[in-house]
Amino acid sequence: MCTVIPHWLDKQADLSPNDIAVELKDGTTITFSRLAENSREKARKLVAANVTKGDHVAILSGNSIEMMETIHACSYLGAVVVLLNMRLTAYEMKQQMQDANVTLLIIETEKKELTECRQITFEQLEDLEADREMQLIEEINLDKVFTMMYTSGTSGFPKAVQHTYGNHWWSATSSSLNFGQHHDDKWLVPLPLFHVSGLSTMLKGIIYGMPIYLLEKFDVEEVHDAIMHKQVTMASVVTVMLQRLVNYLGDASYPEAFRCMLLGGGPAPETLLQQTKEKQIPVFQSYGMTETASQIVTLSPKDALRKIGSAGKPLFPAQLTIRGKQAGEVGEILVKGPMVTTGYFNRPEANEQTFSNGWLATGDVGYLDEEGFLYVVDRRSDLIISGGENVYPSEIENVLLQMEEIFEAGVTGKKDSEWGEVPVAFVVADDNLTTDAMFSFLRDRLAQYKQPKEIYITDELPRNAANKLVRHALKKLF
Ligand code: ATP
Ligand code: MG
Repeated sequence: MCTVIPHWLDKQADLSPNDIAVELKDGTTITFSRLAENSREKARKLVAANVTKGDHVAILSGNSIEMMETIHACSYLGAVVVLLNMRLTAYEMKQQMQDANVTLLIIETEKKELTECRQITFEQLEDLEADREMQLIEEINLDKVFTMMYTSGTSGFPKAVQHTYGNHWWSATSSSLNFGQHHDDKWLVPLPLFHVSGLSTMLKGIIYGMPIYLLEKFDVEEVHDAIMHKQVTMASVVTVMLQRLVNYLGDASYPEAFRCMLLGGGPAPETLLQQTKEKQIPVFQSYGMTETASQIVTLSPKDALRKIGSAGKPLFPAQLTIRGKQAGEVGEILVKGPMVTTGYFNRPEANEQTFSNGWLATGDVGYLDEEGFLYVVDRRSDLIISGGENVYPSEIENVLLQMEEIFEAGVTGKKDSEWGEVPVAFVVADDNLTTDAMFSFLRDRLAQYKQPKEIYITDELPRNAANKLVRHALKKLF
């Protein structure tokens, strides 16, 4: 049986018509009723652009209210939204649009390199005559696919993750069961809406009836200002952002009303977590992936000190297990829950490999401690096996990052006739730092077999469009 609920934006427009749905840094605001009205109007215009139920419509845009309205507009027509990452090359965008069967691209400003796909700008869409006859969707079927977005491609080619309305619904409600809802909550979104972190927070705003403070992009001063002066109570960030915020904060502290800094997207070095403790920043470490529609595991600050480095416990409706392992043993992380995608689009093989009995094999390795707290160790595909010992690059990177003069570190395996593979490190570091100093720093901090056999100083590390370190690309730098 499929579950049907009233369209969530109409519902919130009915419950809290005059409450603020979105606030921008220039003071612009929009209420829930206006957001619903504008989105419905855009849906009618999309009809004039020949969009019909089931179509795959790509959106390429930076964060804006227009982008939000366009996403909602598609839901009023039952069209699937394919969110494209602005940082991709035109070639990658074309590939993704083809792979995702996109029939129309809605774009901020026209892009000549992408003319193979029918394009329409936000402005052109505004100029179309709205179809008044069209019966817009009033009920959401939670089993239907709403959005698709690509994984970051850190471990291979990006895959299109399909998110049903139900995945988003459960992600939002599970998060609220964990954090609770306060009447004065306002959630800061400095992350792109084309990533699941941004999109999921946008939808939380609709489902909770909570304003979001939307930034076009991350800017350390603007985020700092929003937390200090704009009554933001929660914020979603990734590790590099948090590091910059901590440095910027200096000896000051955030207002007491700021109650949650949700940290996700990747590992966080322990040195950073220590700094946030000292500054009493309420950091909630989390673990999740595009496939889980946002965080699926979270660590609350009350456990943070005791469990430093842990990502926490699975959210209420979610389950987690380490394949075939007991507490304390490292193995592949499997997750299950109603926020987990039903599958990748157009990837039968990947689906076969990834899903089994409702469990998603994450491709990450980690362990659970005696109390069931998750520690993410690394990506399975980045594991280095040296002389029969498992070596996890992130462990070595973390130790390297304890040196103040090292800004970024990446470790990968290099073929070796004696050991099979040996770890090799690449760092972005202060000019004055020598490799000898690094080797000697590592000597008493890492077992012999974990010590990098070579360390290279480089200007930058290979990163993908999500700004994640692509370790297999380090191999090309040998
Ligand atoms: P692809 O699947 O294409 O290789 P990706 O996995 O980087 O790309 P995302 O869905 O953006 O794509 O990222 C999710 C991944 O980020 C997780 O599978 C995990 O490897 C990493 N990650 C997320 N949270 C944490 C965490 N708390 N600690 C360590 N790693 C994390
Ligand atoms: Mg992944």
